[in-house]
Amino acid sequence: MQEKGTISIHTENIFPIIKKFLYSDHEIFLRELVSNAVDATQKIKRLASLGQYNGELGDLKVEVAFDEAAKTITISDNGLGMTAEEIKKYINQIAFSGATEFMEKFKDAKDANEIIGRFGLGFYSAFMVADQVEIQTLSYQDGAEPARWVCDGSTEFEITEGSRTTRGTDIIMHINADGEEFLDKNRIQGILDKYCKFLPVPIKFGTQTDREQDGEDEEGKPKYTEVETDNIINNTNPIWTKAPSELIDQDYLDFYKELYPFSEDPLFWIHLNVDYPFNLTGVLYFPKVKNDFEIQKNKIKLYSRQVFITDEVKDIVPEFLMLLHGVIDSPDIPLNVSRSFLQADGNVKKINNYITKKVADKLAELFKSDRKSFEEKWSDIGLFVKYGMISEDKFYDKAKDFALLTNTKQEFFTLEEYKAKVTPNQTDKDGTTVYLYTNDPAKQDTFIQSANKKDYDVLLMNSPIDNHFVAQLEQKLEKTSVKRVDADVIDKLIKKEDAPAHVLTEEQSAKIKTIFDKAVAKANFKVEIESLNPDELPVTVTMDEFMRRMKDMAAMGGG
Ligand code: ADP
Ligand code: MG
Repeated sequence: MQEKGTISIHTENIFPIIKKFLYSDHEIFLRELVSNAVDATQKIKRLASLGQYNGELGDLKVEVAFDEAAKTITISDNGLGMTAEEIKKYINQIAFSGATEFMEKFKDAKDANEIIGRFGLGFYSAFMVADQVEIQTLSYQDGAEPARWVCDGSTEFEITEGSRTTRGTDIIMHINADGEEFLDKNRIQGILDKYCKFLPVPIKFGTQTDREQDGEDEEGKPKYTEVETDNIINNTNPIWTKAPSELIDQDYLDFYKELYPFSEDPLFWIHLNVDYPFNLTGVLYFPKVKNDFEIQKNKIKLYSRQVFITDEVKDIVPEFLMLLHGVIDSPDIPLNVSRSFLQADGNVKKINNYITKKVADKLAELFKSDRKSFEEKWSDIGLFVKYGMISEDKFYDKAKDFALLTNTKQEFFTLEEYKAKVTPNQTDKDGTTVYLYTNDPAKQDTFIQSANKKDYDVLLMNSPIDNHFVAQLEQKLEKTSVKRVDADVIDKLIKKEDAPAHVLTEEQSAKIKTIFDKAVAKANFKVEIESLNPDELPVTVTMDEFMRRMKDMAAMGGG
């Protein structure tokens, strides 16, 4: 058998152009070829389970090897293999028709990830790093002959008799000068770790030596021998492929460590698992955060059937959940198209909504089942929840039942509880309820104490997001105004009717006031004599808010 031919394609030579477009992402050739080998392996398994293949399946695995001297990288599998006819059909024709379509549609595309794969160009990504690619393959079919295909990146190819004696395929890439960086153990290992870590078929890359116990010596001490075993780089059964009922908490924690080896344990997690109207699995983790945004975004990894695609999950995951960690896997997300296409995609929108809902449901469940532990976690979760309430109305509507407000006395309230608590005392004649907050409890301590004295509660709103959260609350809550405690506000607070009487007589108060007034006369301070209860402030000396700001500005040189 010998055949030479020309690949039918309008463009004289597509490879230089593919190479140019895909320049930034050369490393994905390995993902594409290993994925093909995995696909071929899955296919033979399926054929066997359908009774269409009765031979031995053998030890199903994919092997990645390289030879620095010969400048080759080889991907081998014992999957279903190809006949010469199939090579012509799947490699020559189909891929090239995809290539033509690709050429027409994506002349101006820049990002390889947007394009490759979608048009069945996966196999040809080998030419980004190789100047010659060889296929050696033997089909599983009865009586199949081994076949060999060679192509040097022009439109000329050659099919001859092959040399494989067992079922499966080798893809041998003769690495070009530009691709020499890939003839390196660490480089290959790194790429495999990134893209292939959770593929469903074992991927072997080299071997490793392990010590194994081998009986005991005369003194009864264990004896060891060194054994060489395959270095399998992947975990074929990551937890997101399992049913939640099969898993215990430790499995989730272990997996978290596998994803982010140096992170603290997460607070809790959400197992995503849906197959209608779209298919999506995954695990999202709530990381521990300090009370700021000192936490890394883009920690969610997107997979498609266990192949890593990207950690750019914008549009798929709601913006406010970008701080979560974990994995989502969906074959229904269009992977290789442009951003605008992604935003318009119906599935992507549904997935986005689904994730929002699952997160809200999980939080509601945590709140309901163990409020105390929910309160303890609030300093970490509060950030997400507030961010979500500000940025998505749908989330606000769910979160308003479990979002917590904290006051300066470290008490927690739901929005509803807080309303019930403060409405009786903090409502103006015109029916507006006044919520007070402080964004700097140390500095605003005098005001807080004054407010408390009038039986006004003061909320603690001192995280970076709270400015926006306060504005959101004011907008959402009916007949409520949310004010920062300062001199003006305190001044206007209605006094509680049954406030305890001063222990000083009016005469005494007046006397003390005169003394203080004299002392601070030039400074525009306002003096109020309160009481002489030992645990309260007897006298408050405040500056008018307007004057205070003027002074600040003057001090800054602006005034
Ligand atoms: P896709 O994987 O999207 O179909 P590719 O360009 O990656 O596109 O591969 C084209 C086709 O070549 C595959 O669909 C498959 O039929 C065939 N093929 C590629 N690699 C292998 C392999 N290792 N074993 C068997 N068939 C393969
Ligand atoms: Mg492919």
